[in-house]
Amino acid sequence: MAIPDEMDAMVVAAPGRPLERRRLPVPRPGPDEVLLEVAACGVCRTDLHLVDGELPAAPLPVIPGHEIVGRVVVVGNHVADLTVGDRVGVPWLAWTCGECRYCRMGRENLCDNARFTGYTVNGGYAQYAVADRRYCFRLPASFGDLEAAPLLCAGLIGYRSLRMCGDGVERLGLYGFGAAAHIVAQLAVHRGSEVFAFTRPGDATAQGFARSLGAVWAGDSTTPPPLPLDAAIIFAPVGALVPAALRAVRKGGVVVCGGIHMSDIPSFPYSFLWEERSLLSVANLERRDGDELFAALAGVPLRTAVEPFALAEANHALERLREGRLTGAAVLAIAR
Ligand SMILES: [Zn+2]
Ligand SMILES: [Zn+2]
Repeated sequence: MAIPDEMDAMVVAAPGRPLERRRLPVPRPGPDEVLLEVAACGVCRTDLHLVDGELPAAPLPVIPGHEIVGRVVVVGNHVADLTVGDRVGVPWLAWTCGECRYCRMGRENLCDNARFTGYTVNGGYAQYAVADRRYCFRLPASFGDLEAAPLLCAGLIGYRSLRMCGDGVERLGLYGFGAAAHIVAQLAVHRGSEVFAFTRPGDATAQGFARSLGAVWAGDSTTPPPLPLDAAIIFAPVGALVPAALRAVRKGGVVVCGGIHMSDIPSFPYSFLWEERSLLSVANLERRDGDELFAALAGVPLRTAVEPFALAEANHALERLREGRLTGAAVLAIAR
């Protein structure tokens, strides 16, 4: 296959400004890397935080996008288990050092020297991308390219957040019903949990979407649930949801913050946390999250709802996400 010298890419050049469309050289893979022709790339809220300058120390310019589905077009010298034409997925975790305290503890998601796709290394808002093979996943064949893309962050972070809720969750609350929640809801329902979906006040579309995926209750985030929850996951980047979720969970319940950025959390009485409620955050992913998620999906009739956009429409997709006017996940359809 002939590989061109240049490619189209959408680039974060400066914080607070729309993405710029640029022609850039097609990157060359290192020994442990593969070059992918990007088929699809999911649009994640983290991309919006990056564009808005809300993430620390982003080295700009950078190509965003960390939910990449692509096909291998060049294989690095050290890569033995992929060949040209194979389809892989590239997640947020791009590389870890294997040597720092966190890597040695088996907590590679917290690696001091980690690199992140579409943040500290170039991502998938482009026709081609390189990725370290050791951090790529093979994807279930039952998902098309567009449908697989949201699994790579919304699915992985959602899965990790669900794992953090512990076992035996009979009633699970989901705050913010977007890309991650729509995947987690299906997994949780399949496991026998009752899902309670909380949306922006008055968002009947999102509430109907949640019910269509099996939620037993859907309502405004300002409304308490009809029954105490065992656990709640907050996907919306709204700090005021933290005390709301703590009040919604039972004694000993767990509240997990699933996002990378959140507005400030308002102060709240200690009684909201009292009685052994836990509040924790999820950062990044471990490769085992992907191995477990993709294995778990084999037995689950799970579908992702996607809204496709062209690469050049990436700014439009981000604005739709900002406004909460998406049902499911926005995905850039890049090749094919
Ligand atoms: Zn490390
Ligand atoms: Zn993401």
